[in-house]
Amino acid sequence: MNQYDYIIVGSGIAGLYTALLAKEQGSVLIITKGSIDDCNTRYAQGGIAAAIGRNDSLELHFKDTIAAGDGLCDEEAVRILVNEAPDRITDLVNFGVPFDTLNGEIALTMEAAHSVSRILHAGGDATGEHIEVTLSKKVRESKIQVLEDCLATEILVEKGRVNGIKALDCRTGSIEKFGCRFLILATGGAGQLYKFSTNSDIATGDGIALAFNAGAEIVDMEFFQFHPTALRLPGVTPFLITEAVRGEGGILRNVEGHHFMPDYVPAGDLAPRDIVARSIVYEMEKTGSDRVFLDVTHLPPKIITTRFPHIYRFCLDHGLDITKGLIPVAPAAHYMIGGIKTNNWGETNITGLFVAGETACTGVHGANRLASNSLLEAVVFSRRIVKRTAKEAETEVSYTSQGKEVHHSLGQRQVPETAPAPSLSALQQLHWDKVGIIRNKESLTQAADILAIWQKSLPQPADRPSYELSNLMLTGRLATEAALLREESRGAHFRSDFPQSSSRWQHHIVLVK
Ligand SMILES: Cc1cc2nc3c(=O)[nH]c(=O)nc-3n(C[C@H](O)[C@H](O)[C@H](O)COP(=O)(O)OP(=O)(O)OC[C@H]3O[C@@H](n4cnc5c(N)ncnc54)[C@H](O)[C@@H]3O)c2cc1C
Repeated sequence: MNQYDYIIVGSGIAGLYTALLAKEQGSVLIITKGSIDDCNTRYAQGGIAAAIGRNDSLELHFKDTIAAGDGLCDEEAVRILVNEAPDRITDLVNFGVPFDTLNGEIALTMEAAHSVSRILHAGGDATGEHIEVTLSKKVRESKIQVLEDCLATEILVEKGRVNGIKALDCRTGSIEKFGCRFLILATGGAGQLYKFSTNSDIATGDGIALAFNAGAEIVDMEFFQFHPTALRLPGVTPFLITEAVRGEGGILRNVEGHHFMPDYVPAGDLAPRDIVARSIVYEMEKTGSDRVFLDVTHLPPKIITTRFPHIYRFCLDHGLDITKGLIPVAPAAHYMIGGIKTNNWGETNITGLFVAGETACTGVHGANRLASNSLLEAVVFSRRIVKRTAKEAETEVSYTSQGKEVHHSLGQRQVPETAPAPSLSALQQLHWDKVGIIRNKESLTQAADILAIWQKSLPQPADRPSYELSNLMLTGRLATEAALLREESRGAHFRSDFPQSSSRWQHHIVLVK
């Protein structure tokens, strides 16, 4: 078995950035299940947040993040996030990420729930693509070993410590073992749980399933962020229309033309994502439509074509000139807020297992992620992982648990011995209908029962699609059981049977095997 100091699973921002830093400390192998550029990172549009503007401060970024998190942020982790942000931006600039500039300075834009303009962007609305292309080019130049089409299937743990990983060669179907001192999961989110999602195909919760099966703690899975505005055109996969469009003055209208967001909250179109997403659902129900509209026709066309060239072109390719016509939109699953529980050094409860990026739950997002804090979280905590592991020769790394939390094991449900084989589309429909933007005890219980039946009936996975379905099924069960346990509404989790938040629930739900 080949041996490495670091094995990194995933090649989005978290995996690539970690690899570039880790190569200074030892040998590095990146395993990624598709090609190096297959990830959610490359689809990020709006940008990355950092308090670098003249009228901004670390304190203001801290306050905005805490406010969005609705009582569940880990304050120490948020301090780290905002304090280390400017230096991580400098790193990205030094790696060559071409952030947009205005009059010689980095240009900053506004997004919902940020109190000032603090979002850096690249190529207008192609921030993620520029980050991904820049970092993957650096990785190639650095001669870091990358195994593409290689899907991690099992974490190898011996005497409580990770010592490697099993992976499927998706081309040959063979399983191989790789040994390491440090394993870093950077496997991204699980948006493929839902029928309508902005996520790429890779977002199948693999890291959650791998870590859970190895004995790691999974936390905050009831919080899944739905983006309010994904393009809703028949036959077109939901394409994100970034919040920055509303930041630049775009407004939401229902199908009758009414500008409705000010009816719900004073912040109107720039209210936090969960509020805008739910308001859209109410407007769609009220008007009997499956969409609302985003209106930018009052903005100068030049702003639209220069600030949002990617969106402009995509819509034009689908017959819609957004400088003249309204954009049909509806909410879509967007970001997995919960994940594998880590401390402020990216460590998990399993020695040698570290987690970075969307699949980690560092506690910075609380119950609701502030827009553009996720790319930032990936770079801030990836660097801390490398710092921590570099020190391990001197001091043994130890995991410390933080915050108020209640532990549950994934309950057994009574399920029949046989059941029809589930499909990806059935799973996605079930989640959209029962574990969606608005959930309640009845819908969640139905989903939990069905998922338990399906999970039991899955055959042993043998190829990429079957591993992914199995991982999604487990991730879906964790999200559903957590949502069932939390009998309140908070942040991204809205229960129609418990529409208020309650101090009784000001703690995290941790799920263990
Ligand atoms: C449309 C869209 C727009 C967004 N806009 C923004 C934004 O403007 N600002 C912001 O901060 N955030 C944004 N986000 C969120 C942000 O892009 C993601 O949270 C972030 O890119 C995640 O990075 P990551 O490295 O953790 O995961 P990803 O970039 O998703 O990478 C995961 C990697 O893991 C690999 N992988 C997964 N499972 C396995 C396995 N079993 N074996 C091997 N490899 C595996 C995948 O192939 C992939 O390479 C957006 C997300 C989407 C979908």
